[in-house]
Amino acid sequence: MNTIGHFINGEISTAAARTQDVFNPATGQAEKQVAIAPVETVEQAIACAQAAFPAWRNTPPIKRARVMFRFKELLEQNADKICQLIGEEHGKISHDAAGELQRGIENVEYACGVPELLKGEHSKNVGPNIDSWSEFQPLGVVAGITPFNFPAMVPLWMFPMAIACGNCFVLKPSERDPSSTLFLAQLLKEAGLPDGVLNVVNGDKSAVDVLLTHQDVKAVSFVGSTPIAEYVYQTANAHGKRCQALGGAKNHAIVMPDADMDNAVSQLLGAAFGSSGERCMALSVAVAVGDAAGDALVVKMKEAMKDLKVGAYTDSNNDFGPVITGQHRDKVVGYINHAQEQGASIVVDGRNPEIEGYSDGFFVGGTLIDNVTPDMVSYKEEIFGPVLQVVRVQTMQEAMDLIDAHEYGNGTCIFTRDGEAARYFSDHIQVGMVGINVPLPVPVAYHSFGGWKRSLFGDLHAYGPDSVRFYTKRKTITQRWPSAGIREGAQFSMPTMK
Ligand code: NAD
Repeated sequence: MNTIGHFINGEISTAAARTQDVFNPATGQAEKQVAIAPVETVEQAIACAQAAFPAWRNTPPIKRARVMFRFKELLEQNADKICQLIGEEHGKISHDAAGELQRGIENVEYACGVPELLKGEHSKNVGPNIDSWSEFQPLGVVAGITPFNFPAMVPLWMFPMAIACGNCFVLKPSERDPSSTLFLAQLLKEAGLPDGVLNVVNGDKSAVDVLLTHQDVKAVSFVGSTPIAEYVYQTANAHGKRCQALGGAKNHAIVMPDADMDNAVSQLLGAAFGSSGERCMALSVAVAVGDAAGDALVVKMKEAMKDLKVGAYTDSNNDFGPVITGQHRDKVVGYINHAQEQGASIVVDGRNPEIEGYSDGFFVGGTLIDNVTPDMVSYKEEIFGPVLQVVRVQTMQEAMDLIDAHEYGNGTCIFTRDGEAARYFSDHIQVGMVGINVPLPVPVAYHSFGGWKRSLFGDLHAYGPDSVRFYTKRKTITQRWPSAGIREGAQFSMPTMK
């Protein structure tokens, strides 16, 4: 069986404390294995990154950008292979994998602008013959830890900009679907990146713990579930590292009585069930304002869901594929069971889908649950599956209070024709990314991505302008070149300009 290894100093290594099965979620079979790195292998990756840092730091930004330009071209040329690797291990349908990759490539395009982004701030004559400027220097070795659900895009949120800024990087992808991530690193080498600047280690908690505690790792970017995000943030901080840790989500869409219901249903369909609901921006709760809106939404959504096609990634006519593991399928089904036991109505039941030819696959069909209430387990927790829950309220304020009271604050959306209501909503809602008639308000690469509340631990958001700040440290230099004629005597009070 093929063993997926690590990428250290430009070479594949299969050093393993143990191996772990990697499943094809559509067939339910373990088709590959991944090497789980021992502590020494992670330390070796950090040492290689540290050794590569002095030369890479001093490489002119325009030359670093040229590597990114070539990387972007290679990503485009190899798109089919990347999407296939994603499909084999994640189960995502090819059109969805292509969308993920495109969003990742846009982050590489943004990193190509690094000479402009790294320009500092300059002030002349801050005092007599004194100039001052701020510049942004790389941190050194930085680490990234990424989740299974976007094995290409989320790593591309991190390492292109970190590397373009002059850092060296150690990436720990999800051990559940590591091949596409590993392939990205090989393409970056082909694009001209010197060995050691990007290293990939596959592993579990023990690999992550090395990255969180090693003195040579200066910053950690994490994306994954909230309990692990919180652990990563606290541990990295306790070891003096800069950290941004993006966590889980429960994204609500408010459906107002005046909404274009056909449009709302069509948008919700993709946003709730696309990628089997395994997106941190998936809309998993629709909050209908008023009985008429609730009734219309449920009737039209039930009808629209008849056309949903669930199946293997190999058939691009499918709308979505399986969930990631058998264990995760059981967890998603468990939430549907809970909702039913707690009094919600299962309108469309995806618990036992029949997928011809894939009876052992980890499939859950699209599921619609009505009359969900905030006390239900399925409402409080992140399901991360193809399940849309409908909560009914009477006013927009009630809907907003519900969203604000939830522990997560990643994304949200309002469907309405009323500009004033939309403006009030976007101004006041306690959520980091807001859509107005846009169901998945994922910021483009030249903005930054991040939720509020327990969806993000840290100050700076991922990618975009925030990532330039995250992956650099500011240094401010104040300079004077005295000449004999104007030399001043010693000053003992705080220098000021009057
Ligand atoms: P996860 O938290 O299980 O794993 C994320 C990473 O952490 C993986 O690399 C994993 O190996 C590592 N990890 C797992 N357990 C660990 C432990 N005990 N100690 C240290 N490291 C550990 O998340 P997942 O299941 O891979 O991904 C799905 C989750 O990620 C969902 O909650 C989803 O909402 C979230 N997510 C968030 C965003 C965002 O931008 N906010 C984006 C994508 C996914």
